[in-house]
This record gives sequence, C-alpha cells and structure tokens, in this order.
Amino acid sequence: MNGKIIKGIAGFYYVHVIGRGVYECKAKGILRNRKIKPLVGDNVDIDILDDEKFLGNINDVLPRKNSLIRPAVANVDQALVVFAVHRPAPNYNLLDRFIVMMEKHDIETVICFSKKDLAKDSQLAQMADIYAGCGCRVHFISTVNKEGIDDIIRPIIAGKTTVFAGPSGVGKSSLTNELLSQSRMETGAVSEKIGRGRHTTRHSEIINIGGDTYIMDTPGFTSFYVSDIEAQDLRFYFEEFAPYEGRCRFNGCVHVNEPDCAVKQAIDDGIISRIRYENYVEIYNELKDQRKY
Ligand code: GDP
Ligand code: ZN
Repeated sequence: MNGKIIKGIAGFYYVHVIGRGVYECKAKGILRNRKIKPLVGDNVDIDILDDEKFLGNINDVLPRKNSLIRPAVANVDQALVVFAVHRPAPNYNLLDRFIVMMEKHDIETVICFSKKDLAKDSQLAQMADIYAGCGCRVHFISTVNKEGIDDIIRPIIAGKTTVFAGPSGVGKSSLTNELLSQSRMETGAVSEKIGRGRHTTRHSEIINIGGDTYIMDTPGFTSFYVSDIEAQDLRFYFEEFAPYEGRCRFNGCVHVNEPDCAVKQAIDDGIISRIRYENYVEIYNELKDQRKY
C-alpha cells in the first residue's frame, strides 16, 4: 500500500494513507542496506501489520521528485512564503532571498501577504507592484476576516505538497489551523487517526489537509543565506531583469557598477522596483565575498 511520510521521530515514521489514517512504521532493513534515509514527504510502499493499532513496515521509498535540506522534506511541489503586510512589517530582503533559493531548487514560490486587514488598499497595491515582475504569483489574505483562504489559498494548495515558510508572527499557524479545521469538517478527516495533538512546529512534519493535499509548516526563519550561486548568475534569478538582458552596454553586465546599464535605467524609470534591485545588489556583493574565502 502507498502512503506519504508525514513525520519521523526516533526511528519511527508516521505514514499517511489517504482514506485510512496514519500508520506508525519502521523502515525495513533493506532500506538501511541501500543507505536510504526516508524523509518527511517521501512516498513509500508499506505493509500494514496491524490495522487497529495502525502499525506498519516501510518496504520501499519511491523515487523522489526533489528534496530540501532545511527543512528536510522530499517531493515539494511549491513553496508558499508568508509575510504580513504589517505587524511585523514585511522584510523584503528576506523574501527576495527566499525566492532566489527556491528558484535555485526549481521550486515554484507563491507569495502570500497576510493580515491584509491591517493595511489600506493603496498600500497593498504598492506591495503588489514591487513583486509584479518577479515571476511569482502574489496574493493577499486575512485569517481574521477569512479573506483569500477558501477562494485563493485552498485552490493553490489542492492536491500538492506545499512548504509554508515565513518569519514567526506573520500568521502561518492561524492559516494552517484555518485550513485544517475547515477540511476536517468538510472531508470528515476527523475520523482518520490523525496521529498528532495540538498543532506545533517543532518537528519536521507535514500535515494532511484532506485527500492528497499536504502542507509543511516550517519553523519561522529570521535570516536566509543565499549560497551555491555564482555572483554573476544571480541576475537570472530576478525575472524582471530578463527583458533587459543584452541591452546593456557591456556583454555580461551584472547591473551593479557598469555604465549604460539597461536594468539601472529601468529602475530610474520606475519600471523595476528599487527595493528588489537593492536587495539584488546586497546579495550579489555577498556572493562575491563568499568566493574570496
Ligand atoms: P505564526 O508565528 O506565523 O504562526 O503566526 P500566528 O498564527 O501565531 O499569528 C501571530 C499573531 O498574528 C497572532 O496574534 C494572530 O492572532 C495574529 N494574526 C494572524 N492572522 C492575522 C490576520 O489575518 N490579521 C490580523 N490582524 N492578525 C492576524
Ligand atoms: Zn546592466
């Protein structure tokens, strides 16, 4: 039978099987021999040992689509990065770093600005403008007003495994709980053995939101280092620069110190967000310094 590992603790893996529940499993020796360490998010083949006590064995780990190290998770379809529009103020620098790293892993990022009830429409429009050209979809939600949850977030995550990321205090738990409580009511998932108590974000853990929809609520982050990218390649991670590529005076212009730079012109013309550009320059300089050491 196939399932998905939603949690691993002390040699036990908790495998969610759609329509049945969560089985406490051990990995069979064959996996240890092949030096495969099962990860949260792995799709696995299990034998059920006891259907009443929800016990099983993992026979095999199915091929992975991808995997992340921090958080340790496999088969991620997309990332939903959450920043509040206000309280706490959005940290665009952190957001831009996150977008770059997900792009580097080939994982699509959806930007979710939360607490939209705390800002005026004009402020929301300004924020949307900053990210209009970045290649990520941008959405605004409020868990307080229940805006954007059923109509926007739920369709985006349906049938996928989504990593929820963002600093603490932005309302990730509120969003998760909202998604979870609704689906339990709607899908009757409460009858499944959920295998978890109160919502916590301490372990690496993914949560089933009914059917084949899974989310991973990652611990809040306060910093994000971009690495494993050559400084001169960073510009390709800022999609709004792409239309200007090849239009600068110098071939291979990195849009930092070169004269007659089409990207810098676009910033002066107000076409590309200066905030995005300044974050680009900061990360660029960091990557250049990393190479020196
Ligand atoms: P987390 O640290 O990202 O998991 O954030 P929480 O879900 O714990 O929320 C942090 C604080 O923001 C709590 O006081 C929530 O009540 C509040 N909060 C969450 N969502 C909203 C929202 O949509 N609007 C407003 N105004 N406050 C919110
Ligand atoms: Zn340039």
